[in-house]
Amino acid sequence: MDLHYTAGETAFRDTVRAFLDSHLPADLQRKVRQHLRLTKDDYVRWHKIVAQQGWAAPAWPVEYGGTGWTAVQRHIWEDECARAATPPILPFGVNMVAPVIMAFANAEQKAYYLPRILNCDDWWCQGYSEPGAGSDLASLKTTAERDGDHYIVNGQKTWTTLGQHADMIFCLVRTDSTVRKQEGISFLLIDMKTPGITVRPIIMLDEEHEVNEVFFDNVRVPVSNLVGQENKGWTYAKYLLGHERTGIAAVGRSQRELTFLKQLAMRQNKRGAPLLHDPAFAAKVAHLEIELMALEMTVLRVISEEGKGPGPQASMLKVRGSELQQQLTELMVEAIGPQALPFDPDFLDGSAPHSSAGDDLAAPLAAYYFNYRKTSIYGGSNEIQKNIITQMILGL
Ligand SMILES: Cc1cc2nc3c(=O)[nH]c(=O)nc-3n(C[C@H](O)[C@H](O)[C@H](O)COP(=O)(O)OP(=O)(O)OC[C@H]3O[C@@H](n4cnc5c(N)ncnc54)[C@H](O)[C@@H]3O)c2cc1C
Repeated sequence: MDLHYTAGETAFRDTVRAFLDSHLPADLQRKVRQHLRLTKDDYVRWHKIVAQQGWAAPAWPVEYGGTGWTAVQRHIWEDECARAATPPILPFGVNMVAPVIMAFANAEQKAYYLPRILNCDDWWCQGYSEPGAGSDLASLKTTAERDGDHYIVNGQKTWTTLGQHADMIFCLVRTDSTVRKQEGISFLLIDMKTPGITVRPIIMLDEEHEVNEVFFDNVRVPVSNLVGQENKGWTYAKYLLGHERTGIAAVGRSQRELTFLKQLAMRQNKRGAPLLHDPAFAAKVAHLEIELMALEMTVLRVISEEGKGPGPQASMLKVRGSELQQQLTELMVEAIGPQALPFDPDFLDGSAPHSSAGDDLAAPLAAYYFNYRKTSIYGGSNEIQKNIITQMILGL
């Protein structure tokens, strides 16, 4: 295992940097750097710029529009995007439903959906979780009953991220309730404009509308929207979860945030000197930086085993990555102290050019801190990831 970049990889990094320097719109970069809220248009605009370059789906096979990059090149790309402060390419289409379509859908579905996902023509959302089925996902109760060439879908999904913008939802539905619960689940693609679908916002701690409840009331879905075989959806669902890979550690973004934290702490005054010179605060920052370096090495070790497929190591990266992200937001709020108190939604949404609270860098940080409580829950809670680590890595 060699953790150093080759000359070719360093040259690749330069190519990526040059692309980002010339193509990342300044207004989007400012929003991401300053922790402001992104609109649907912001996400779509950046996705289409990257798609134009042919880089929107680096991990896809080349025949479907992928890049043919190695895992290390994909890591460099993600790392550079994080450092440059690009909006994310949302995972729901490119990284979640697309691999399932490639592996299990029929030729017609592949030909229709994959190019649209690549180009962000459809906004996808994920309909897995239900009020009684989160960690215990196989307990899901949303039903799909066959009626001729349609399924009739009834039930409720929850925590549907950015579902308010969605054109399509990929859904796990129960098609047989007489068998073992994992064996009666199917994977359906549902057009969000179908009559009978209601999307209700869930407002988060930071007052952001990021997640939703989605209700299905006698929604008619063509049988042609079933992926793969009826009642085999659990296999496809697990395949999809395995694709939320190493990127979940988000080391590049945390490194950008660490730089931001240091700038913030240099600017803050504590008894006549910069806060970053305060030994107690500096020790916390140093500790975090060391932990981040260790995580980066772990990510590189995992991706150096390219070809083995997603393994339980992804759980370690998720737990550690999310913990460090949360610690960073805690230290930011600690650094700005009482300046975290004002809450200025107009500034956060970009409708006011400056914060009425007076400090544009400090104003979004409390909301950012609250928002980041989610990272240890979504994508499978950290407690569940720890169970996976104890069982599959430690063999306990
Ligand atoms: C911001 C956000 C966005 C999300 N986006 C989506 C989305 O787009 N689509 C989607 O389908 N889902 C989404 N989710 C749902 C997410 O996947 C679930 O919240 C998560 O899997 C946990 O399920 P739960 O909320 O039902 O909690 P529960 O499963 O009820 O768990 C509650 C607590 O008990 C713990 N716990 C449960 N079982 C065990 C166990 N066996 N051992 C130890 N501890 C246990 C959990 O870790 C947790 O701390 C999102 C969640 C959040 C917070």
